[in-house]
Amino acid sequence: MKYELIKLGYESNALAPVISQQTIEFHHGKHLQTYVNNLNNLIAGTKFENADLETIVKESDGGLFNNAGQVLNHNLFFTQFSPKGGGKPVGALAAAIDAAFGSFENFQKEFEAAAVGLFGSGWAWLAADAGGKLSIVKEPNAGNPVTKGLKPLLGFDVWEHSYYLDYQNRRADHVKELWKIVDWQTIAARYSA
Ligand code: MN
Repeated sequence: MKYELIKLGYESNALAPVISQQTIEFHHGKHLQTYVNNLNNLIAGTKFENADLETIVKESDGGLFNNAGQVLNHNLFFTQFSPKGGGKPVGALAAAIDAAFGSFENFQKEFEAAAVGLFGSGWAWLAADAGGKLSIVKEPNAGNPVTKGLKPLLGFDVWEHSYYLDYQNRRADHVKELWKIVDWQTIAARYSA
């Protein structure tokens, strides 16, 4: 299987000013494209040549894990935002957030703390177990909760490449702004899938 760069469901300037056009063009067009190219080169001629992304992430290590993980992570990342995003989740996802974290506001506080407190590069994830129970998972580098048997619902990328052009060292400000573009319908669909 040849992996391809996912197409964005919005224009490259549509998430500004939360994420600028320049950041989208580098992050999606350069960083993610490089992970996709590396992944294709690394799986060629191996047992993973026709494997799906989650299988590769669960069963590989080293450079292959890093590149497959980052393709999976960014495919989830770039499809979870919308220029019409923001607000709060409703329905079963909202109930699960309340059950796990007390309130949506407290969830946001705990999620921001996880993202801001992550040392170096990595991801903060909202993930669900097989019973639908939610938790916040901090993953270094290319990590994804699928390796823990959990379903990733929402991921904030705290690698500097995701925010440095727009926010420089102000990771906390970037994380706070991201709530304005989260497409909760997409997150809810992942939760109920
Ligand atoms: Mn990234």
